[in-house]
Amino acid sequence: MSFDSFCLHSALVANIKRIGYENPTPIQTESIPHILEGRDLMGLAQTGTGKTAAFLLPILHRLLTTPAKSRSPRTLILAPTRELAEQIFRSALDFMRGTKLRAAVIYGGMGMFPQTRALRQGVDIVVACPGRLLDHLNQGNVRFDGLETLVLDEADHMFDMGFLPDIKRILAALPTKRQTLLFSATMPPAISGLAGETLSDPVAVRIGNMAPLATVEHAIYPVSHNQKAPLLLHLLGEAGKSSVIVFTRTKHRAKNLALQLCRSGHKATCLQGNLSQRQRQIAMEGFRRGAFQVLVATDIAARGIDVSQVGHVINFDIPDTAEAYTHRIGRTGRAEHDGQAHTFVTGEDVGMVRAIESHMKKALPRRELAGFEPEPGEFRRSAPAPRYPARGRQNYGDRSRPSYGDRSRPSYGDRSGRPAQAESAQGDRSRNDRPAGERPAADRPRSDRPAGERPRTDRPRNDDRRTTFGLADGGNQRDGSQRPRRPYQGATAA
Ligand code: AMP
Repeated sequence: MSFDSFCLHSALVANIKRIGYENPTPIQTESIPHILEGRDLMGLAQTGTGKTAAFLLPILHRLLTTPAKSRSPRTLILAPTRELAEQIFRSALDFMRGTKLRAAVIYGGMGMFPQTRALRQGVDIVVACPGRLLDHLNQGNVRFDGLETLVLDEADHMFDMGFLPDIKRILAALPTKRQTLLFSATMPPAISGLAGETLSDPVAVRIGNMAPLATVEHAIYPVSHNQKAPLLLHLLGEAGKSSVIVFTRTKHRAKNLALQLCRSGHKATCLQGNLSQRQRQIAMEGFRRGAFQVLVATDIAARGIDVSQVGHVINFDIPDTAEAYTHRIGRTGRAEHDGQAHTFVTGEDVGMVRAIESHMKKALPRRELAGFEPEPGEFRRSAPAPRYPARGRQNYGDRSRPSYGDRSRPSYGDRSGRPAQAESAQGDRSRNDRPAGERPAADRPRSDRPAGERPRTDRPRNDDRRTTFGLADGGNQRDGSQRPRRPYQGATAA
């Protein structure tokens, strides 16, 4: 199938050609005709499948071929993170080039005024994170009386991050007669509930079925903690010039590792919640343009990153959940480029390896490199007792199972995976990252804490996530911290 069969507006056809898309991806083939017909749609698709163009192209076609009925925005796209909102906005600008359509992107961590001005001048498309959009709605800076299409992108992430109440408030401010498109990689009950409330007679399109992207080659590296950094340097050597994203569990580890890589001569930067919005943009832009070859990131900070040519994802620290593994590797092998996903695994990670393998319904190949073998007994020791309150079963290791060194059998550790980690990517400093003698954040007076650092607590991970999302969106503004201002964020396509 080719893009011609959709009979899209000539400006879109020209832009698709200029961008270099030759044929629609499966989600585009399946979704575009229904969206053009005006149907509501529920898209079950993971990141990297081309879902952004799947909703943008038919929406832009309608905007270009039918007249506006009022000055209100005609399309609202809600996304969970600033990065994803920026990315959708950029794609929209790319497809809109040479037309008179106007778009604005709205998220926290930026001054309200330029956004207010863009909204008041009038735009066709608003791409927004829920928190900041609600602020604008509450201040009367925008009305959606003439809204024709609503897109809820990465709905499961919005739910994870505690945005459901905000979304419901936004929905209450929208006309009920509209087209709604909901995209989600997973379908937890809360999202099917939301779909039931917001979609009317929807077409369901399911792509990818949460399988790992076919173009990604996976490898698990059994390694000792102290060998992780040397192994990373070795793999970066193997990666040559291709772009690499390295995932760590904590913000501080991301920062320190990026510094260490720079000292070793790599062009590296980090993306983590302690950065200002400006610093995040510099890191992302630099990585996208190739000024930085390596981006060291935490899960939350990296949500929604789309750099289509990422060759390698290296899980320096194994993710906290099997779903997070899928999201991380979704950064590579995008749009049919080949990618490699390397995961460093220490003795205490065996439970999570099993959880990931069970989620992916296949054993992941092990790779052991000479000189980086784990210490003898690393994978034979009984696993340590959980350090944090666990969800579900608490046994990390299972002594009845084969040792890690036994390659003939692919099952390792316990199915339950790792329990909630107070030192997760979104949380505070890990014990290891804290300088010797420094008290945990919660013990220190507020003024003594680095900007943006929250007191360490052992609250469950979901709660942590919600709090940290403040760093990724409008919530940030509400904690009173100063954010650098950036000039006008609205833009026209011309
Ligand atoms: P998404 O799933 O929307 O984040 O898209 C993932 C990547 O696929 C982005 O880099 C897009 O530019 C790219 N992409 C989307 N559609 C196509 C297509 N039809 N052909 C080639 N690349 C595409």
